[in-house]
Amino acid sequence: MRALITGVTGQDGLYLSELLLSKGYEVYGLIRGQNNPKYELVEKTVPGVKLLTGDLTDFSSILRALSVAQPDEIYNLGAISFVAYSWENAQLTSDVTGKGVLNILEATRLWAGDDLDKVRFYQASSSEMFGKVQEVPQRESTLLWPRSPYGVAKVFGHYMTINYRESYGMHASSGILFNHESPRRGPEFVTRKVSLAVARIALGLQSEIVMGNLDSKRDWGFAGDYVEAMWRMLQQEHADDYVVATGETHSIRELLEVAFSEAGIAEWEHLVKQDPRFIRPAEVDLLIGDPAKARSVLGWEPKVGFEELVRMMVRSDLAEQKQLARL
Ligand code: GDP
Repeated sequence: MRALITGVTGQDGLYLSELLLSKGYEVYGLIRGQNNPKYELVEKTVPGVKLLTGDLTDFSSILRALSVAQPDEIYNLGAISFVAYSWENAQLTSDVTGKGVLNILEATRLWAGDDLDKVRFYQASSSEMFGKVQEVPQRESTLLWPRSPYGVAKVFGHYMTINYRESYGMHASSGILFNHESPRRGPEFVTRKVSLAVARIALGLQSEIVMGNLDSKRDWGFAGDYVEAMWRMLQQEHADDYVVATGETHSIRELLEVAFSEAGIAEWEHLVKQDPRFIRPAEVDLLIGDPAKARSVLGWEPKVGFEELVRMMVRSDLAEQKQLARL
């Protein structure tokens, strides 16, 4: 089996590459830009992956990547994915996260021609599409009401994926993934921001952490578990849409509590400052997913719970920061 992954340099791209390599796949990854500093990260973390240069906004580069990789499965994970950034870069986010999906769907259709039914496609949709939630918990049928340019762009990609499935009979599935984290998460996201800062505070490398809204809540799972759900979707006879979530929600305060406790710090309130800089123009409401369909159809269950996830991230940052500081 051969797979092409866009967004291979990100957290999910790396976990999915590991999973597919362990199953004996030949894995190709699309990587953007000249002299991309993440090139080395991919080569070091998942040395078996073959990297092809290209960009989701560059249609012909996608066509070229498809004709080199000749994939049986395509995983479209590439996106500008940081919600807060998307207000400042709404058009770029729409081009990459939204229209990029149309580019790769259409490139796949043209490249595959009469063999389109032999190709399977995965779109990384997002719980941010639920935004101002119309139902709790959110499921596949819940009305979408995105609350950020990122969420709006993801809705476009989601419906375009469904449209290719319905118009061309393409095996195109959409995974509506709730927040999923790991030691590989970028430091701009709140879980990693906290695990990194807590590790640095515990080691005396930093004195405080400056945060935004401590009351917001998320349904957080482990990225390593979530890539398994992506793969399972493409093994089904029929393509479909699935919510992938834990079904549990926790606040930023709880995240801080668990993270500090893993680092052995009981009194932490005085170490956390708040700054309106990190407050968003609009917040999503109570995000909590109902993974019942993924459980019953895909046989998928999250293995790593919230506390274990946060503790894993803090332990990893403690080890890394110790090494960097040569403590
Ligand atoms: P998102 O769900 O994709 O937006 O994931 P994030 O990890 O970026 O944000 C999760 C939640 O944490 C949001 O509701 C943020 O408003 C909240 N939050 C509170 N303080 C911070 C912060 O300092 N940085 C980030 N990134 N989020 C924060």
